[in-house]
Amino acid sequence: MRVFKFGGASVNSVSAIKNMANIVSQYQDRPLVVVISAMGKTTNLLEKIIPGIPNNETEHYELLQQCYDYHLTIAKELFDDAPNDTFVKLDNLFDNLKETSFSKPTEYNYDYDRVVSFGELISTTLVSGYLNSLGIRNTWIDVRQVIRTDNNYREGIVDFNTTCTLVNKTLRPLLQDPKSMVITQGFIAGTETGATTTLGREGSDYSASILSYCLNAESMTIWKDVPGFLNADPKFFKETVKINKIPFNEAIELAYYGASVIHPKTVKPIQNKGIKLNIKSFVDPSAEGSIIGPFDSIEPLTPLYIFKNNQTLISIQPKDFSFIAEDNLHTIFAVLAELNIRVNMMQNSALSFSLCIDHNEILLKKLRGKLEKDFRLVYNSNLQLITIRYYNQTIIDSIVGGRNILLQQRARTTTQLLVEL
Ligand code: ASP
Repeated sequence: MRVFKFGGASVNSVSAIKNMANIVSQYQDRPLVVVISAMGKTTNLLEKIIPGIPNNETEHYELLQQCYDYHLTIAKELFDDAPNDTFVKLDNLFDNLKETSFSKPTEYNYDYDRVVSFGELISTTLVSGYLNSLGIRNTWIDVRQVIRTDNNYREGIVDFNTTCTLVNKTLRPLLQDPKSMVITQGFIAGTETGATTTLGREGSDYSASILSYCLNAESMTIWKDVPGFLNADPKFFKETVKINKIPFNEAIELAYYGASVIHPKTVKPIQNKGIKLNIKSFVDPSAEGSIIGPFDSIEPLTPLYIFKNNQTLISIQPKDFSFIAEDNLHTIFAVLAELNIRVNMMQNSALSFSLCIDHNEILLKKLRGKLEKDFRLVYNSNLQLITIRYYNQTIIDSIVGGRNILLQQRARTTTQLLVEL
């Protein structure tokens, strides 16, 4: 059994969905689970209509209309305007979305999950209906009945035991026939009481990995708009190298440092079961791609670069001139954990603790509010964090290019540099 994941870019237009249908039609020799994200940038749009967010009713209606028009234009073209019960299902979903997005605001994260989940419910309904209309028989499954999380809205923590039980009860029986196919949503999940949760932005890779784990899939494949796992983001680097083989641990490290090719939580579940993860191009589906698996080292061995823009460096100094030691660090980390602030790099000296985080005005204000009584905080913003694995000095010099380095760390294989943009 295989598990495929198609992201937003692979289903963002009529031609993209036709291409995706063509890909899955070539893998019908074994049961297939297809996990799909919201189409294009739908999640970004839905984030603007969380109850309490739109500035006014006109704007709210406009955004809803935009979302409806985008999906319906694609659906009409795919179905050649022929009547199909998919249109009824889509209309129901949009009615529901309207009602939910106009409901009275409650807790933001709870409302967020209820609204943004429609992106995936709509995309999978559309794609499943289209594949069925082509004769590519499949069953649409609401993954909220299958992937179980706690009620930590926007970042649900998966209960793997319950999820695997539910997978065995609901999904597995549908996947007996070699030609069987299940279409389901990425990113979204459900709680014990039936509330909708999400797994964090870009979480569809993780959804596919959870299902692969529970199904003991033979492989998982993420279909992307790049040829595979590249040694740098092509947005930052012209000459990229495709890495053909990546050890599980290397992939976890890279995702941890911010490589955008896979969601950080994706690799661990499949590593535990030894399930190989293919990264393939939906633009050139027959090309090799990359494989994350039980390898000893990356192949080819080449430097790997991860760039993160919009970083802020915060230096924290105790007001009483005490040293930065365990007690002060304890206070600082308790606040960071409380505010859910992820530290991308840190360093301490006798009198100051420096940390680099993704810039976020609101969180910075909160951090300052909580620490200002005992500490002095100074900032530098608009910085770039560069992580290089398998570095040497020549590589560092050419990447930094004479820019001011504010913070630097070197370990055996990895160096991190925080530089001015
Ligand atoms: N649709 C969600 C997002 O845009 C999940 C995903 O695409 O992986 O973050």
